[in-house]
Amino acid sequence: MTELKNPDSQAYQRKVRLYGQPDSAQAYEIRDFLNRTVVEFDWIALTCDADCNKELGLPSLSNVRLPVVEFPDGTQLFAPTIREIAQRLGWVTQPKFKEYDLSIYGAGPAGLSAAVYAASEGLRTVLVERHAVGGQAGTSSLIENYMGFPEGISGADLAERARQQAVKFGIELLLLREGIKSEFKHNRIYTDMADGSKMIARANICATGIEYRRLNLPNENQFLKVGLFYGAGASEAPMCGGEHVFIVGGGNSAGQAAMYLSRYAKKVTMLIRGDTLAATLSHYLVSRITNTSNIEVLFHAQVTGLLGDTSLHQIEITNCRDGSAHKIDTRRLFVCIGGAPNTEWAKDTNIIRDKAGYLVTGSDLLKEGRPPECWTQERDPFFLETSVPGSFAAGDVRHGSVKRVASAVGEGAMAVTFVHRYLEETA
Ligand SMILES: Cc1cc2nc3c(=O)[nH]c(=O)nc-3n(C[C@H](O)[C@H](O)[C@H](O)COP(=O)(O)OP(=O)(O)OC[C@H]3O[C@@H](n4cnc5c(N)ncnc54)[C@H](O)[C@@H]3O)c2cc1C
Repeated sequence: MTELKNPDSQAYQRKVRLYGQPDSAQAYEIRDFLNRTVVEFDWIALTCDADCNKELGLPSLSNVRLPVVEFPDGTQLFAPTIREIAQRLGWVTQPKFKEYDLSIYGAGPAGLSAAVYAASEGLRTVLVERHAVGGQAGTSSLIENYMGFPEGISGADLAERARQQAVKFGIELLLLREGIKSEFKHNRIYTDMADGSKMIARANICATGIEYRRLNLPNENQFLKVGLFYGAGASEAPMCGGEHVFIVGGGNSAGQAAMYLSRYAKKVTMLIRGDTLAATLSHYLVSRITNTSNIEVLFHAQVTGLLGDTSLHQIEITNCRDGSAHKIDTRRLFVCIGGAPNTEWAKDTNIIRDKAGYLVTGSDLLKEGRPPECWTQERDPFFLETSVPGSFAAGDVRHGSVKRVASAVGEGAMAVTFVHRYLEETA
């Protein structure tokens, strides 16, 4: 927990303050959002009426709609939604134009990179993000293999730098907006937004990445954000002091989460179904994990049960080889087991998806050298172009993508080059 600052200090004046109960799912959601959007804040846990009285000047916890967010100007929002907080921070705005040269969906590394290049090259571009800037990368505590940052960089910082760069070049960023359905006609893409509005553009780049895969345990929702967390837990780590926490998964994101959490937690246990780390984890992480004394790796292990009341208290771990099961006390389980692509919006279009839902692009669309029947141009699809001319895909959402920050960034930049070619041909 962050210590309270002297109320007269400048830092106190500038920071957002978040008050809430320790096991509150809503407070977690707000912490996660503020952390990912690089808003400095103090988290003040209220555990009893005396805390409530001292911190908020209100007599009892039961009379306050928690969590409370207090902005640097003193305004307080009681039990606010993420949208209300973003609105208060001035981040929810209306589109400036009726039609854009390019719409980009998803502000992860691929979308941000596309935005930087498109805006710097003079395209009238809108970048639409349904949640926080940074995507999956924004949840990473330390990205160590991205070129140019020898000491590593937190995903949220990297995303914030990219956001600033894109804004400097004139990108229009619409946060907390989600594209849900698209229609292609008259060389335009018409997208229905979740808020009922429509977005029109001459070309688009889908950079909607992937969604975490669920554990699929029956009572998962009961513990979601109150002990069960999807992702690397960047905002939760400071709260794990003295605890034994668990991570499900053996990929790089799980490995990074283990390293980061081990700085705060008493012990970190990684639960892996296979029998080796080397098969799924980068070499540098394998040796770090092996050499970190408070990280333990349990092989052939699977989480088969979640137990608790208003928050998680225990998990059940089953050995996948002999079926033996045991329960162990913990208050935090972090799940990092990869995901499935966010491409539901494409299901009623001519955009071809592979069996897992990833968008198929470029030469992957050709069968015996010929484009698919739905393809309407004389030429073959450009690299990164989907089966609908002018609609491109970049980053993790693309069939055959590498699932790395650098490749997402590279694809975002490349896609813009092909957008130019497409726009010239339809001018
Ligand atoms: C914890 C963690 C650590 C990682 N560490 C590393 C690392 O060290 N090095 C490395 O190279 N890679 C790492 N990765 C992988 C890397 O983060 C991803 O490959 C990269 O983020 C993919 O970028 P992307 O832009 O394609 O998609 P994403 O990052 O998934 O971003 C997609 C964005 O699209 C938004 N979105 C989805 N649907 C819609 C919609 N309909 N409308 C509007 N917006 C939408 C999402 O909210 C999201 O912000 C890590 C991943 C995780 C989870």
